[in-house]
Amino acid sequence: MENKTQGSAKILSELIRDAKRIVFLGGAGVSTESGIPDFRGSGGLYTEQASIPPEVILSHTFFLNRTEEFYRFYREKMLFPDARPNEAHKALAQLEKMGKLTAVLTQNIDGLHQAAGSKRVIELHGSVLRNHCVDCGRAYPLPFILKSEGVPLCPSCGGIVKPDVVLYEEPLNDRDLVDAERAITGADLLIVGGTSLTVNPAAGLVLWFQGGKFVIINRDPTPYDGMADYIFREPIGKLLGEAVSAL
Ligand code: NAD
Ligand code: ZN
Repeated sequence: MENKTQGSAKILSELIRDAKRIVFLGGAGVSTESGIPDFRGSGGLYTEQASIPPEVILSHTFFLNRTEEFYRFYREKMLFPDARPNEAHKALAQLEKMGKLTAVLTQNIDGLHQAAGSKRVIELHGSVLRNHCVDCGRAYPLPFILKSEGVPLCPSCGGIVKPDVVLYEEPLNDRDLVDAERAITGADLLIVGGTSLTVNPAAGLVLWFQGGKFVIINRDPTPYDGMADYIFREPIGKLLGEAVSAL
């Protein structure tokens, strides 16, 4: 059968074919084709005329001092319970199944990589699917937050139920960072996509890469473009989907 894969998808497909230990590092742009807005892309939350910038609302200080406003923003702008995995999530899950991809490192908090079937996912910024009472530690699933009003309170002890999401000013989980560094160090192909690479320490993880090819798939430029062997400015779902189906 004639291979109809053109241009970028063909190049990416060949890079994937030659690789044995692919690591993917992604961000909010991976989920825009699932209908979840990113922060800094066109149509992202940062382009909205908001009186308080999202990174201020999503900070630990704001959570502590203006808890009710935090939850109002969080429910409205960060929760998309009906979103489904797109071609990017599916292609990455497929690469893992084929034994080619060793880990997905994501800054996303939407759980869509696991929903697509990926098993080895490091959620650098946590997940909206998990929530805990800050006082007694009891765990609550996402529907508990969705059904609650105002500040969600623990029925057992009255403590605040906080999402397991890393807020600005909060540290990332050490174990996750070490695992992510190890995965990148051992990779022979690093694909970075759908991220502005401006949120640290996640973005700085690319500096651990010592392997063969470094590919960026992102609509807008990133501070690490100069390090990349290939840069594709196409929609990540479409490109990854085509590249993997052409393998
Ligand atoms: P970002 O918003 O800073 O950057 C997203 C990048 O993706 C932009 O550079 C944009 O050009 C690119 N992009 C958007 N759609 C694309 C597409 N279809 N194909 C190719 N490129 C595309 O996102 P970030 O770097 O992840 O940093 C934002 C922070 O916000 C992260 O920490 C993340 O946790 C959080 N966040 C998560 C979600 C989510 O879980 N889905 C959504 C919004 C924000
Ligand atoms: Zn409690």
